[in-house]
Amino acid sequence: MVHYAYAKPGMKLMDTLEQFCQEGQAGSLLDFALHGGLFDVEHQLAEVPDAFKFGVTSFKVFMTYAKLGWVTDDYWLAALLDVVGREQGMVAVHAENGLATDYLEDKFLREGRSAVECFTAMRPDTLEAEAVNRAIALAQVAGCALYIVHNSAATCLEPLRRARARGWQVYAETCPQYLTLTEETTLKLGALAKIGPPLRTAADNQALWEGLLDGTLQTVGSDHAPKAKKSGDDFFNAPYGSPQIETMLPVMYDAAMAGRKMPVSRLCN
Ligand SMILES: [Zn+2]
Repeated sequence: MVHYAYAKPGMKLMDTLEQFCQEGQAGSLLDFALHGGLFDVEHQLAEVPDAFKFGVTSFKVFMTYAKLGWVTDDYWLAALLDVVGREQGMVAVHAENGLATDYLEDKFLREGRSAVECFTAMRPDTLEAEAVNRAIALAQVAGCALYIVHNSAATCLEPLRRARARGWQVYAETCPQYLTLTEETTLKLGALAKIGPPLRTAADNQALWEGLLDGTLQTVGSDHAPKAKKSGDDFFNAPYGSPQIETMLPVMYDAAMAGRKMPVSRLCN
């Protein structure tokens, strides 16, 4: 398991990594490693070389969640890619255009639309693919390996295929929830299904399976982010995230076998 050690705004990266490491060593039954999760690259970047000395070589940032104050803008993403590229590490991005999705959210809510019904429209696939493409361009300029976490949409596959055809160091993941669920689930389960990027369409599920089988996507990750929330909670104020670790393998096995989506040998890889 590779866990995200999230350094929230105001926190030191190295304090966070050391704390997660100590907690893991005290109680983990699994072999584990850590990704650095940077919420404030401007103030945490200087510690990145120390993180490498500590054994942490991959770092996640958000291109979204601007209103939450978590977004890494292009300036600081370019800076992080530069530093991590020099150390021959890897940057992972949550790719959605956060300023544009925030605008769409404000607009829909101003119009009195229901947050749950508009959720997918507030975070459209085009703005996810745009951020994927932008991250790829910035990583290429910096000469840094890039990993795009939790791709949810067919549109993301185009920039990924282009980059990989050019032999660039770009790797990408999807998750069981994006392979098996659709926005119907968001409407049915409300806050419980509030995840970012949002659940999309059956056509997206299908395209992501094809992307996995043809090697455009290299991995299935969990994006395990359990939160205390229930179906009926106020959707807008509910936190993002869903629990996935326990169900990841059975769901993938069932979809791959029962749905005849993927040979078991490929699933094991
Ligand atoms: Zn994310």
